[in-house]
Amino acid sequence: MRKSNQANHEPKFTRQLTIADFDRLFPNEDACKAYLRDQRWPKVVICPRCGNDKVYASKARPFHWQCTKCGKNPRAPYRFSVTVNTIFENTNYRLLIWFKVLYLMLTSKKGISALQIHRMVGTGSYRTAWFMCHRLRAGLADPEFRQLMGVVEIDETHMGGKDANRHWDKKRHIRGTGDKIPVIGAISRKGNVVCQMIEHADMPTLHRFVNRVVDKDKVELVATDEHAGYQYLARWQKLPHDTVNHREGEYVRGLVHTNTMESFWSLLKRGVVGTYHNVSKKYLPLYLAEFTFRFNNRHEHDIFGKAIAGC
Ligand SMILES: [Zn+2]
Repeated sequence: MRKSNQANHEPKFTRQLTIADFDRLFPNEDACKAYLRDQRWPKVVICPRCGNDKVYASKARPFHWQCTKCGKNPRAPYRFSVTVNTIFENTNYRLLIWFKVLYLMLTSKKGISALQIHRMVGTGSYRTAWFMCHRLRAGLADPEFRQLMGVVEIDETHMGGKDANRHWDKKRHIRGTGDKIPVIGAISRKGNVVCQMIEHADMPTLHRFVNRVVDKDKVELVATDEHAGYQYLARWQKLPHDTVNHREGEYVRGLVHTNTMESFWSLLKRGVVGTYHNVSKKYLPLYLAEFTFRFNNRHEHDIFGKAIAGC
């Protein structure tokens, strides 16, 4: 059942680059390389191996540099290109194709399927589009995660479609929620979301997650539902914890509710079920990274640049 005030919690996304903007920014491969260089090294190109900021641009090969400091000897400098240590390194695809795929991924609020990307970008084969999408998702995973503060909602959900919706040979013939994958998430109101696939939604797992993602000194309230796994958060973890009792029809009591987290779940589910038609355990973390990145950067005007800088 949708809660009456759900609409107020629907995330708002900032307008992104239009296709015309994109084409103006990236008319060709060199423009992409220059953009990647400027996102990675905004001031001066730095050697990725030793941190030296006095590298020499290669005259013969544009967007390649040489570092004499960490080379074997002055005659054999270390050579690197603009894609070194990025997810674009050692692939045969042009940056312009990578950029288009990333652009489509970031501008589609509920995600975009590899098939659709293949049709729109002309990636050669569906398999290529699929590979590029997954590699980009891995690039979007946040390495610099910051603990949540203020009012934090914690909630868990289950991903994975109903067996009845599967093609007959993919059916697992399991009843109930047995084939669903539990996912736990935390969201700071008006702030960032963190989520993670878990094996079981039991108390040790939930407590461990809360400990990892919540800043104990700066959290004002941890709001959850009445799930037994959240018991003793106050007593054992010394957290300001309060619950709403969904089973008894209570969804909001003052500041205590999990509606923000639930609106993220609904966005994630509409995306994963509607766009990707289900995901397996193996790939779910990649989709979580994609949806988390898009959500956490929903007010970022240059989400594309930020993604490129982190790839
Ligand atoms: Zn070097």
